[in-house]
Amino acid sequence: MAAIALPTGRESIGLEIKGANVDVRTVLERLEDVVVGVVEPAASTVDRDGVFPRSAIDALAASGLLGLVSGTEVGGLGGGLAEASAVVERLARACVSTAMIVEMHYCATVVIEAHGPQAIRHDIAAGRHLSTLAFSEAGSRSHFWAPLSSARFDGDDVVLDADKSWVTAAGEADSYVWTSRPAAADGPATLWLVPADADGLKVGAPFDGLGLRGNASCAVTGAGVRIPRANMLGADGGGLDIALGQALPFFSILCAACSVGLMETAIDRAVSHACSTVHQHLHQTLADNPVTRSSLAKMRMTADGARALLADTLVAVSSGRPDTMLRVLEVKAVAAEASVVVTDLAMRVGGGSAFRHGNAIDRAFRDARASCVMGPTTEALHEFVGRMVCGMDLF
Ligand SMILES: Cc1cc2nc3c(=O)[nH]c(=O)nc-3n(C[C@H](O)[C@H](O)[C@H](O)COP(=O)(O)OP(=O)(O)OC[C@H]3O[C@@H](n4cnc5c(N)ncnc54)[C@H](O)[C@@H]3O)c2cc1C
Repeated sequence: MAAIALPTGRESIGLEIKGANVDVRTVLERLEDVVVGVVEPAASTVDRDGVFPRSAIDALAASGLLGLVSGTEVGGLGGGLAEASAVVERLARACVSTAMIVEMHYCATVVIEAHGPQAIRHDIAAGRHLSTLAFSEAGSRSHFWAPLSSARFDGDDVVLDADKSWVTAAGEADSYVWTSRPAAADGPATLWLVPADADGLKVGAPFDGLGLRGNASCAVTGAGVRIPRANMLGADGGGLDIALGQALPFFSILCAACSVGLMETAIDRAVSHACSTVHQHLHQTLADNPVTRSSLAKMRMTADGARALLADTLVAVSSGRPDTMLRVLEVKAVAAEASVVVTDLAMRVGGGSAFRHGNAIDRAFRDARASCVMGPTTEALHEFVGRMVCGMDLF
């Protein structure tokens, strides 16, 4: 368990990250069959039609990989951040929508593992339950640390009202890890485990976005949603500590893994296009042109820089290094921005061929933009890192 102080302006929050009980190679071997057999073949349809990759999620559930970060005591694989990162990167090479759904499920699972009911933990470990994060709200937008939605105790129940603006796997997941203002305590937020079939929940219009077109990121409103008080995750008012200490490191690192995975696909496709496409009148491939090779070199170097930072962040987390929180805040922004640069170059190398819909470069170019605007956005992370290097509190 890593314990790193995070200066928030209110108090120090310890990062709480469990170590792993499973070998990453074993996990990747298990994943490969699912990727090759199900995820990859479905990827272009998922993107073109904007459909949720149900067959991929079911196959991942059947392989046990939805239980990757669940504890072995509830039947999970006992994986940690490094294993989750490897899985998300491999998925993102094939289908970023699927990767993001799994990423959100892992982020929700680490919170449920620490604070949720035993029965749901067993269901997640067995692949019977998909979860996700419902943090972003229409009022506070990307500032997920400042929920405006409400919670009110009523006997043994709590009643929730909210206007959630984006929820990955909305209407597809079995539960939402949900933020609200505290019900009775002081503090910025409280977390709840909200069953997806709770009365009063309404999923908004189907998702139709630029990228990640299969991830079903819809709005979800809650009007008088009544759930048992026992579904509170952690203490009333303690939700931000959990979101920052447990969910954020997973989210930030897995977003970076997603960006790294999609950069690899963009580079593979650009290299293969450059090496196989011929200007017949010159008897030269595109790769014979030094300008094209220079673009490919920039892509490789940019992706490798992000990959190296991701690897260093994982080392920092596992060894409890003092700069762990700095790395956690840096890695999502660095990898997201790198993926925008790399996929832009891939579009140029691919030329008109890449411009047509239905190829992996065009999809990676569109998918790459998502991580920049997912909270904490690149701009928010620049602000946090800037405050940190100046010795200021984050908020
Ligand atoms: C594909 C996708 C999936 C998502 N899935 C989920 C999910 O599962 N759960 C969830 O809770 N949320 C999810 N989100 C929502 C996401 O985390 C953000 O809340 C959302 O993208 C923010 O969009 P906005 O335009 O409302 O943000 P705004 O806050 O309006 O930001 C707009 C722009 O302004 C910038 N900005 C905002 N404040 C500042 C500031 N103080 N200084 C400088 N710049 C600033 C931002 O960086 C951004 O570029 C998802 C988003 C996407 C795109």
